[in-house]
This record gives sequence, structure tokens and C-alpha cells, in this order.
Amino acid sequence: MSQRVTPPTPDQPVPVANFDNHGFWEGCRQHELRLQRCRACHIFRHQPRPMCPHCRSLDYEWARASGRGTVYTFTIVHGPTLPAFQAAAPYNVIVVQLEEGPFMVSNLVDCVAEHIRIGMAVEVVFEDATEATTLPRFRPLR
Ligand code: ZN
Repeated sequence: MSQRVTPPTPDQPVPVANFDNHGFWEGCRQHELRLQRCRACHIFRHQPRPMCPHCRSLDYEWARASGRGTVYTFTIVHGPTLPAFQAAAPYNVIVVQLEEGPFMVSNLVDCVAEHIRIGMAVEVVFEDATEATTLPRFRPLR
């Protein structure tokens, strides 16, 4: 069974930047993986949010991440899916544990489903999905 990840079609929703996550999406547009890092305890976090879950500080910065991590878990989606994603099925959904610690949900590209393994080393790649939105995906680390 092979799997593919296709760029969003006009019917597929793409993420929308907001006050809390704009630094993440702006980094993606520039093909940099950026994470929030607490300025008080220096711990990285993802998903973006106003408050540090470790020390409750509201002071943070956007820091460039290495873009490397390991597959923590994954699944292959066969459907039924939301109608806009049905044509892409089967496709994978992975949870990556980034080197900096946080987990990120994404897709693995350049890898057939049979070769996906928990613990495999991966690196981020960027897919310019629309004029305004770039999506972070991962591929096996080379
Ligand atoms: Zn903190």
C-alpha cells in the first residue's frame, strides 16, 4: 500500500493564523520551524498559547527549532474522512516529537506507509499550500 500527501485542493481547509500562533505560521512561510519558548523557564512549547504550561509565565519568544525529531506515533487514514480529504486517502498522520521536546501533528512525505516506524528520525520540509499558507510536513532524515 502506498500513500501520498497531496497539496490542499481549493476545497480543503488550511490553518488560519491568529494572535497566538502567527509566529509559527510566519516561520513556516519563511521555511523555518519556529516554536514558542518561555523567556522565564526557557522550555519550548507547541501548540502556541499565551501562557507557559510549566511556569505560567506570559513572556515568550519565537525561536527557530532544528526541524528534526522522531515519529512518536502514526496512523494511516483510509476514511471515511471529511469530504474534502477523501480523494487524498489513504494518507498518513504522524505525531513527531521534536528535538526541542514538543509534539507536532503532521504528515510524513517521501515514505510509503509500510516504511513508517515509531522512533524513525525525521526532518521538516515545507509545502507552500496557498499563497498565504505554508504547511510543515516531515520526511525521513537523510
Ligand atoms: Zn515557563
